[in-house]
Amino acid sequence: MTRSSQLFAEALRYLPGGVNSPVRAFRAVGGEPFFAQRAYGARVEDVDGRAYIDYVGSWGPAILGHAPPAVIAAVQETAKAGTSFGIPNPLEVELARHICEAVPSVEKVRMTNSGTESTMTAIRLARGYTRRDKLIKFEGCYHGHVDSLLVKAGSGALTLGQPDSAGIPAALAALTLTLPFNDLDAVRAAFTQHRNEIAAVILQPIPANAGLIPPQPGFLEALRQLCTEHGTLLIFDEVMTGFRLGPGGAQELLGVRPDLTCLGKVIGGGLPVGAVGGSAAIMDFLAPVGPVYQAGTLSGNPLAMAAGLAQLRILKAENIYARLEKLGALLETETRAALKAAGLDYAFYRYGSMFCLFFTPGSVRNLDDAKKADLPRFARFFHALLDAGIYIAPSQFETGFISAAHTEQDIEETARQMREALRG
Ligand SMILES: *Cc1c(COP(=O)(O)O)cnc(C)c1O
Repeated sequence: MTRSSQLFAEALRYLPGGVNSPVRAFRAVGGEPFFAQRAYGARVEDVDGRAYIDYVGSWGPAILGHAPPAVIAAVQETAKAGTSFGIPNPLEVELARHICEAVPSVEKVRMTNSGTESTMTAIRLARGYTRRDKLIKFEGCYHGHVDSLLVKAGSGALTLGQPDSAGIPAALAALTLTLPFNDLDAVRAAFTQHRNEIAAVILQPIPANAGLIPPQPGFLEALRQLCTEHGTLLIFDEVMTGFRLGPGGAQELLGVRPDLTCLGKVIGGGLPVGAVGGSAAIMDFLAPVGPVYQAGTLSGNPLAMAAGLAQLRILKAENIYARLEKLGALLETETRAALKAAGLDYAFYRYGSMFCLFFTPGSVRNLDDAKKADLPRFARFFHALLDAGIYIAPSQFETGFISAAHTEQDIEETARQMREALRG
């Protein structure tokens, strides 16, 4: 029996499902999760001493790879001066300034402790600012485990077949209108039917929690225009894409400015951080200036701020995004070649260092398309790769991440193992 198996058996006694976040349990692909001992660069190593080339990267934060020396040093140095103050500290100001300078639509920012807190805050702020209650979200978009947003959600919720969680009052869920992604007619109809009632449209500008789904040309621009016309706030959930696709995230890449932006993952350097930002006029609706209450004992935590700052400084100073694009392009070429050689139908999508392979014959424009993927084939592919020392997310409905610590050799080795795996 492996040490991972022993630990999982024990974990099942003390933690629901043996985990603290559902997708980690491997339910979508079968088998048991491995337990991590450590992670460095592009590798994670399990408690049995096996190393894997990692394309999960802690689900997004590890854009420089695991344990980048500058981030670790910043955390160690900062910890010597105390791990939490509950009093303003200089690092909060520095990280906030860095974010405001990089993200086109953000003038002020409020730090939180997770992506979930950032989307929760964004929708409360939008409701307070517009004095309206209803929200539009899109099927398959995941915005954390916020009550109002866990309606037809992606990621773990979708993986487990629970896009609608139990425990959410029907009265609250009724305020969330859920529409198919890339369907402008549906959005127009909702605005007509609920005139002057919609506080916000929230979306991932590039949905990446039902697999990776490209926005159709003009879709985001039209949403921007509709929101402006109707006095509705446009919220981009860039928890995954922020500082991942470039310093200004998807909004800079695609040239559309939201009213509010949710951040997390990369900006925390692997520590628990989230943030919500927007124009000063909207952000000043937050307490203590405005009437919308939001708070956090550990918000702006010095260790988290130091880790995030160290990571963002490296992203800015070194030509990281160009390197990620090069590695991403290589992985794309190799993956397409492997699938062609295997004679399999597939759809492959990639933005820089984010990628997703669907085992499906058609293109993927929305959640319904994504659900047509061959899930048993994905599960076989996942396990064949894992056995060969390659770790991708244990679900078809997730996105892969490349880090700056991956090498061309890592990608070539991955491609070799993919070709093997696709034979099965
Ligand atoms: C991960 C993620 C969240 C939730 O962030 P947590 O830190 O897990 O709460 C929200 N939105 C998107 C787009 C995410 O990828």
